[in-house]
Amino acid sequence: MSAPPCVPPAMRRRPPCPVCGRESTPEHRPFCSARCKDVDLARWLGGRYVVAGDEPAAEPGAD
Ligand SMILES: [Zn+2]
Repeated sequence: MSAPPCVPPAMRRRPPCPVCGRESTPEHRPFCSARCKDVDLARWLGGRYVVAGDEPAAEPGAD
């Protein structure tokens, strides 16, 4: 039974930044900063035009 850290419940309730996982700030929530906000936006916009080529395309000729 150890004592909990001195962290206000309000702060612990704050969801982490979806981009980097850091603590979000009231100014940029749900992100931690304007930068992460930008990154997320870029992801959305980028995803519409550029598809991450992670999965192998079934293209003939590779063999
Ligand atoms: Zn962040």
